[in-house]
Amino acid sequence: MCTKIGDTVICVNNSDLRVNLKGNPPALVLYEKYKIKGMNFCDCGRVSYDVGLPSIGSVGTVCVRCNHMLPNNDIHWCASERFVTEFTNEHLEAAVKEEQYELAAVIRDELNK
Ligand SMILES: [Zn+2]
Repeated sequence: MCTKIGDTVICVNNSDLRVNLKGNPPALVLYEKYKIKGMNFCDCGRVSYDVGLPSIGSVGTVCVRCNHMLPNNDIHWCASERFVTEFTNEHLEAAVKEEQYELAAVIRDELNK
């Protein structure tokens, strides 16, 4: 997936966000659209996005692959793998399979645009 700052991406995985010091992971909403405000390229090759989630408690985030501390403690960096640039038929099929019909309707509308 080739993305740049300013692109809009859709969250397809909001599971297991790292818990911060206060015990609350920031809210990354499944299937919500986010604008990429910043990107971090870790030494290990992993790409993380700043999509505007604040890091509560200013503990910062670490790379989930190599545990390297990511810059700017005010940002809760999110792994780029959590996002797609657009919905596909696979997302639609998965939503139907999981009986998430409201979501399926949203995805279908997006696909038909
Ligand atoms: Zn890394």
